[in-house]
Order: sequence, then C-alpha cells, then structure tokens
Amino acid sequence: MECIQRFTHRLLPLPPTVAQNCFNSVKRSPFRAYPAARFGLTRKPIFSPTSCYPRPGLTPDLTTRRSYGHSSRARAGWFLGIGKKEEELQEIVKAGDPVLHEPARDVAPEEIGSDRIRQIVDDMVKVMRKAPGVGLAAPQIGIPLKIIILEDTNEYIGYAPKEETKAQDRRPFDLLVILNPKLKKKGNKTALFFEGCLSVDGFRAVVERHLEVEVTGLDRDGQPIKVKASGWQARILQHECDHLEGTIYVDKMTSRTFRTVENLDLPLASGCPKLGVC
Ligand SMILES: [Zn+2]
Repeated sequence: MECIQRFTHRLLPLPPTVAQNCFNSVKRSPFRAYPAARFGLTRKPIFSPTSCYPRPGLTPDLTTRRSYGHSSRARAGWFLGIGKKEEELQEIVKAGDPVLHEPARDVAPEEIGSDRIRQIVDDMVKVMRKAPGVGLAAPQIGIPLKIIILEDTNEYIGYAPKEETKAQDRRPFDLLVILNPKLKKKGNKTALFFEGCLSVDGFRAVVERHLEVEVTGLDRDGQPIKVKASGWQARILQHECDHLEGTIYVDKMTSRTFRTVENLDLPLASGCPKLGVC
C-alpha cells in the first residue's frame, strides 16, 4: 500500500518547464515493453508509456519514483532461473495488468525457509522501501505467491498531518513478513478513509475497511504468527491480503471518490459518505 502524502500541486506548484518536459516525455517517449514471459508462460507483450516521474523540485525523497531500469527483463529471467544482478529490483506491476486480478497460491511447506522464498521476501522489502510504501504483496512484483510485507515508520507518519494520522489511528510498527496469511475481521466497526496502492500510482480512493482484524500465518522462517491489528495497520493488512485474492482497492472503493493525489484535499462529491469511523 502506498504512503499517503499531500505534496500537492497546490502546495508546490509544478514549474511550467517541468510540466512541459513531463508532457513532452510522455508524448515523445518510445514505449517500453513489459516482459513477454511471466510465470513461465508466454504472453503477448503489454506496452505502457514511460512515466514522467521523477519531477525535480516537486518530489522530495518520500515521493520520488525511481526507474527500475531493466527490471522487467530481470523479472522474466528470475522466473527462468537466470541469476539477476544484485542491484536490479523487480518492477511494481501497475493496475491494468490482468495479473493483479489473479489469485495467488499458498507457499508450499517444502518452499518455506528456502533460499528462493528468502530472496523473494528480501526483494519485496527492497522494492517496498524504495517505492516507498507501507505494504506490498508478492503479486505486485509478479510473483503469484501468498506473501505480504508491511511496515510503517515515524518518518512516513511524520509527513501526514497529525490530526489525520490520529483519526486514522496510524502508529508505527516494525517490518512484518507474513506467508500464507489468513485474515479475520473482528467486530463490526469500520472506517472510511482514502488509501493508495503502489500499483495504482498517483491515485487515491475512499475504501471502507474493518477497524480491527486478526491475521494468522507464518513468518519467513516458517514459524506460526498471529497479528492483532487495529486502525491503519488493520487497513494495510486488509489491503495486502486483498492483493492475494486478486483484488485491488479500486475493485471495492466507494463510488465517486477516485481521484488524483493532487485533488486529495478537495471536498467529496455530494452524497458521498463522510470520512472517519462508521
Ligand atoms: Zn496495493
């Protein structure tokens, strides 16, 4: 799940030259190919225009989008068992790719603790922190396994207004790695807040989530774990577990609340429910 930030165009106007460069780069850029092979299957290439990020002067470290270079090829190579260079990171799969709507499979008992799974987890942590985000599911880097990671830090939380993080009940927590998570919603209380996703870059929508959940699963060593979570951590867990079912937040968002990050502070459309605990 994406960090919620409010470095909007209104707060930090985009210089015309940057805006023009951005527009030009989208207009002129050659298209870059997604991997033709994924999950060992041959697929028709999917093309997407090159992003105009990063935008100098607009994006502090927290919101900088980095280019992952040849990661698509690395990802395809990884699945084919070809070694990848250490500095290459998997690319985050973006919305529009049907792979995000495919359910993931359990990590098999014989795979748990293996070098392959450890490598996947290590890669996920690097990708999530580099994005940066507060959660990531393995399908988001093209790996159809039930693995989620999440982490929230004082630094990330410090970028959001205090009244907002208080309303969201957002508190820092250490990195959590959960294999084969099973989520149970607890109680009847829910909350409506905007959330984002690293696979839906630059957009937010209101999603109703349970305030409390309990997640059981295995840690990266295969030891059983149980996480009782509330508030924002519970939201992140629900968001990431949804990814493992092939669901992204736009599949369950409150209608008419989908908007760009730049418009996050504008009032909701008439008739939309109020943000907060229901
Ligand atoms: Zn997501």
